[in-house]
Amino acid sequence: MRLLLSSLWIRPLLSLSALSLVGCVSVTPQTQGRAVAMPEARSQAPAKPRSKRSAPPISAAGFARRISHSSVPTSEKLLAMTFDDGPHPKLTARLLDLLAQRGVKATFFVVGRNVRTYPALVRRMIAEGHEVASHTDTHPSLTKLSEAGIRQELERTEEAIVAAAQIKPVLLRPPYGATNERVNRQAFSQFGYQTILWSVDPEDWRRPGPSVVASRLVAGAHPGGILLAHDIHAGTIDAMPQALDALLAQGYRFVTVSQLLSSATVLP
Ligand SMILES: [Zn+2]
Repeated sequence: MRLLLSSLWIRPLLSLSALSLVGCVSVTPQTQGRAVAMPEARSQAPAKPRSKRSAPPISAAGFARRISHSSVPTSEKLLAMTFDDGPHPKLTARLLDLLAQRGVKATFFVVGRNVRTYPALVRRMIAEGHEVASHTDTHPSLTKLSEAGIRQELERTEEAIVAAAQIKPVLLRPPYGATNERVNRQAFSQFGYQTILWSVDPEDWRRPGPSVVASRLVAGAHPGGILLAHDIHAGTIDAMPQALDALLAQGYRFVTVSQLLSSATVLP
């Protein structure tokens, strides 16, 4: 039985007792030395598509308690294409053109300081039906920050997005995928953010070439998948026509992450 959970994702507010039951996705924090926008690299292992198996069924109550997601259980051919680290003045604009030509809706996890520099691009994202969400203000590894440090990163980014587009984000993608239960809970309890990771990583930041990026995205795609990419690399933008057209030809439909969460197939 399929239930739509859209009402649960507007501004989720769970009690602390409910939060204690939350099942969080954990990933290996990335070692990094720079504080600028960087790729979500998590390991030095060669890129390989993740399992194409869809997320297992889950009860409605169990799904509602989750505050971290790397994919969404659904039998529908839905995908969430996500772009981190922008907006970039030239590449993001070109990407938005490509998406508009295909009617593809994406989710942009933006860096606060880039939002302050290029607010018009954030307004354009919203105007064209995309989702804009937080990727922190200065791209730190959140697991290494204090509670106050995390709060400052998320506050500043949210303020930048609100100032640019009058939209309050509801999702967080932690830089480098570096998160843990402490980070997830703080993001949720203080900001109402779901933490969003991914199920398909083409490692585009290594710049393997557009055709490789495209083929990895296509090979890894699965119903309910969350695809990771970065709109600060020209090769990634160059890969998108091939990747999007191939996936559209396979019958996939692209939705925002919040729309994907609302489309979860859950057990009664
Ligand atoms: Zn990033």
